[in-house]
Amino acid sequence: MPHPVAGSIKHCKSCGTAVVQRLPDDGDARMRAVCPACHTVHYENPLNVVGTIPVWQNQVLLCKRNIEPRKGYWTLPAGFMELRETLMEGAARETDEEAGAQIVMQALFTIIDVPRVGQVHFFFRAELQSPVFNPGHETQEARLFAESDIPWDDLAFKTVKETLRRYFADRAKGEFGLHTLAIH
Ligand SMILES: [Zn+2]
Repeated sequence: MPHPVAGSIKHCKSCGTAVVQRLPDDGDARMRAVCPACHTVHYENPLNVVGTIPVWQNQVLLCKRNIEPRKGYWTLPAGFMELRETLMEGAARETDEEAGAQIVMQALFTIIDVPRVGQVHFFFRAELQSPVFNPGHETQEARLFAESDIPWDDLAFKTVKETLRRYFADRAKGEFGLHTLAIH
């Protein structure tokens, strides 16, 4: 999961001049990155992060990150959605890239707003087709964890922790819902 943060534009995408943060001339009430040379207004919007909760029997697949941020910490497979793909396609792609895992996608499980960094995270439940993985370069290790073995203190991101907590709570109830929340 690389980490571009919304609101980080430094130079004009049209001409390369350093942008300034100001109110555009059109009555827009928000500060925008405006180019003082060619007057292009750069609109920055939240980014979608898409991932899965891959399950084999009673165990969940986690990936130990091989890249910053949070290198060496455990995560569900997830990353930034690409243009021209759906949420579900992005989640499946990230699961393949980070874990080399074969899955059957199931229902959307969490939608988590993270307004501080301009992101929305989406996690789908998924059923693993085998317990054999082939992690890519972003992952040091991909392995299965029973609920009692989840490394809660070594999870990479709050969105992963909140998703796993709700997953195990719903599994104990025998019914999976769709959870929407915000992390500030
Ligand atoms: Zn410009």
